[in-house]
Amino acid sequence: MNIYDHFYADGRFISVAEGRRHVVVNPASETACAEVALCGRGDVDAAIKSARRGFEAWRHSRLDEREAALRRLKAALEPRADEIAALLAVEMGCPVWLGGLMQMSMPLKGLDFAIEGLSQITWEERVGNGLVERVPGGVVAAITPWNFPVHQIVAKVAAAVAAGCSIVVKPSEVAPGAAWAFMQAVHEAGLAAGVVNLVWGDADVGEYLVTHAGVDRISFTGSTAVGQRIMASAAARLTPVTLELGGKSAAVLLDDADLAAAIPAAARMGLANSGQACVSQSLLLVPRPLRDEAIARFQQAAAGWVLGDPLDPATRLGPVATAAQHAHVNAMIARAQEQGAMCVMGGPTGLSRGYFVAPTLFSNVSPDMEIARREVFGPVVALMTYENEHEAADLANASGYGLSGAVWSGDPARAVSFARRLKTGQVVINGAAQNLATPFGGWGLSGFGRENGRFGIEDMLSFRSLHGAA
Ligand code: NAD
Repeated sequence: MNIYDHFYADGRFISVAEGRRHVVVNPASETACAEVALCGRGDVDAAIKSARRGFEAWRHSRLDEREAALRRLKAALEPRADEIAALLAVEMGCPVWLGGLMQMSMPLKGLDFAIEGLSQITWEERVGNGLVERVPGGVVAAITPWNFPVHQIVAKVAAAVAAGCSIVVKPSEVAPGAAWAFMQAVHEAGLAAGVVNLVWGDADVGEYLVTHAGVDRISFTGSTAVGQRIMASAAARLTPVTLELGGKSAAVLLDDADLAAAIPAAARMGLANSGQACVSQSLLLVPRPLRDEAIARFQQAAAGWVLGDPLDPATRLGPVATAAQHAHVNAMIARAQEQGAMCVMGGPTGLSRGYFVAPTLFSNVSPDMEIARREVFGPVVALMTYENEHEAADLANASGYGLSGAVWSGDPARAVSFARRLKTGQVVINGAAQNLATPFGGWGLSGFGRENGRFGIEDMLSFRSLHGAA
């Protein structure tokens, strides 16, 4: 059993002073697999003091020093891919194939794009008699979730390092192993002391961190409910916040879409990581005449998503991450049935051990049902039919979230024109790869602010205008 009982400040691992512990449960076996020592206030104070010292030095760093730090970090992180994939399989049920494919490739690309971003930013600009500077925003408090933990930590850390900020990361207590491995990489990379710091904690520690007087900016990734709470507490000190929150993203098939390509891709985007992705496409919108074909193709595609031990390379789908998540997903499935949605496949597994949820598809879903509007964060897709493109756009936009979406059409120009009707931060056209150099973030209940590449760095900078500067 792994014990995570050291936080990281001033460039070293320090024993957590207090006694509160969080037990991490392996979601496939339902047995304890790790323990996290939750930081007390003194530990958080120490990490923030370290970050303040780190910031005072790092804000003056040259761009080539920041680039070299990011390159060293990437070199130290890359060899840890297998270790991290195994930790994610045990701690949050992510199958090793996905751990290897996505959980590590995204952060490594993220580091590359942060390095590229350094040279894309206009750090200084003359505007009339003014010199406009982009200056580091200070000490960042970063709070991250468990579903793509390394990617979410790296998105914030890489941007902060590139921006000349310092950062205190509070990763999710649900999947600490990946964060621990990441901090080993930070240490090995020899980043300047105090620039990257880590505290362990739950909601209480998170609240203490984001309301701390030593914090200049907050970058939060997680649920909309917690994001709203953090924004309310940040208001007291007017601390700027970036909120990367939940989603209810729709895959929209226009009537000329290639179903043979679209449906397996939509199934993948709804089911992978057991649907525990903020950009998960949990709504599938199809023209009414294509309904039966779409259902049949989805069933065929989803049949390949076999449940099993996340450590087995043959397993496509592991359990959901926690008992609470399992109860939440099963309750949403039950309520969808009560409200009249038809469970075409999936539902409760009947397995006596493990937080497994079978790939689930609902049809006969109407826009007022909870399953059409609320994030499930499980392998559950709701199929809805539409009469015309106007109705399709209305259905896709109805939830109030605005993180992502997808459109499929045989006519690329038509797909782009439809994509522009979606009120979301990104739209995937005909199954294109997600481009991690473009700004990532949401509209509406999915939050605001942007991550990735130069956009993520800009999010951590402030403007300073010097009027009459020579
Ligand atoms: P969560 O909101 O429960 O927790 C996220 C983090 O916030 C954890 O580290 C947790 O300890 C901390 N936290 C909880 N309460 C807090 C409080 N009151 N103050 C400060 N910190 C607090 O979310 P989760 O269950 O870890 O993750 C799932 C959610 O995250 C989903 O809604 C998902 O859509 C969202 N998410 C969004 C993105 C994105 O980029 N938009 C990416 C991944 C996940």
